[in-house]
Amino acid sequence: MKHPNGFTTRIVHSDRRSTVEHGSLHKPIHATVAYGYEDARELAAVFQGKQPGYTYGRQVNPTIEALQTKLDGMEDGIATVCFGTGMAAIGTTLFALLRAGDHMVSSSFLFGNTNSLFNTFDSHGIDVSFADATDVAAVAASITPATKLVFVETIANPRTQVSALQEIGELCQQRGLIYVVDNTMTSPYLFQPKSVGASLVVNSLTKYIGGHGNALGGAVTETGLFDWASFSNIYPEYQGGPAAKWGITQIKKKGLRDFGAALGPEAAHHIAIGSETLALRMTQQSRNAQAMCELLDAHPSVSQVYYPGLPAHPQHARAQQLFRHPGALFSFELRDDVDIWDFMGKLDVVVKSSNLGDNRTLAIPVAHTIYYEMGPERRASMGIADSLIRISVGIEDTQDLLDDLAAALG
Ligand SMILES: *Cc1c(COP(=O)(O)O)cnc(C)c1O
Repeated sequence: MKHPNGFTTRIVHSDRRSTVEHGSLHKPIHATVAYGYEDARELAAVFQGKQPGYTYGRQVNPTIEALQTKLDGMEDGIATVCFGTGMAAIGTTLFALLRAGDHMVSSSFLFGNTNSLFNTFDSHGIDVSFADATDVAAVAASITPATKLVFVETIANPRTQVSALQEIGELCQQRGLIYVVDNTMTSPYLFQPKSVGASLVVNSLTKYIGGHGNALGGAVTETGLFDWASFSNIYPEYQGGPAAKWGITQIKKKGLRDFGAALGPEAAHHIAIGSETLALRMTQQSRNAQAMCELLDAHPSVSQVYYPGLPAHPQHARAQQLFRHPGALFSFELRDDVDIWDFMGKLDVVVKSSNLGDNRTLAIPVAHTIYYEMGPERRASMGIADSLIRISVGIEDTQDLLDDLAAALG
């Protein structure tokens, strides 16, 4: 078939671009760990990379390869590696590339578990500086002679700060730094980090790409924009072939081997099916989010709404310029005289749950759950009020969500 260009067309016809067993319309689930060969010389050739083929399931499986090809299409990448979770994708990628004594700059507005991981790095000899990534000057001021890499998210959770994605991309290019963008909150349908110069794109497949809250997964995609020949941490055995692929080869061959956080074929299948409706879901979810935020913004019981789709959001213009829609996650604060437990108790359609990126709308009282462990002082410094509620917006009919909010607010 010819190469179709539409985002969804590419995903749903991706498997057919190469021969699928028996003409199956879905890449089958290959529930196998190892692969047998008639001739041991063939097995050796596959091991030595002289012949394509499969060896052991920790690094390679046909079902997962099909998903990796889909992700390349979504992110306009040249190679993707999948992992068992989004955290495994981030941890393995950075551990495979950085060494003791290296320094990296990270956004200070991070998914909580990523923040925890980067604090762990410190005790393993990799220095991390946290900077306000909405401001390129703050990132630039954190760079040292030992800096190898900059890591940012697109839209932060829960307060929805939007990083200076374009400007940080230019900075990384000038300084020869690896630019890693966690695209989970926007998904490749709303934004392609390659367009701002990212060399590695991380996605938690658990969230919008899988979309149904039924499988965990993660991925890192190489865009081909970084010259890995200029990077001193690539081991000689991964320096074969085009330099654009050296980094992702080291992540796959060394990172996946050393840490073993492989994605399973059943989860890969769930995620591949889910990804077919990514564009449809994100469009409806963003539309719902905008309508809910407009209702809340105008309501006397609500004191603050954080959503890049609202004109008062500090990075509204940036979000409008970079993203197809402003996303499907927002947060808001209730006025002091409104009881948060009373409000949440009255929600009926909206589920009280911690995940995000599900088809169902989910709400969580942030300070009392995911940010509870860090204590009141850290919370205050991060702008997490006691009444802050995060909403991950689903695909329900808009009016049902608006009615649910209005009824709970009384
Ligand atoms: C959820 C999430 C992750 C981690 O993904 P898991 O699949 O839960 O491990 C990483 N980054 C962001 C922005 C996320 O929302």
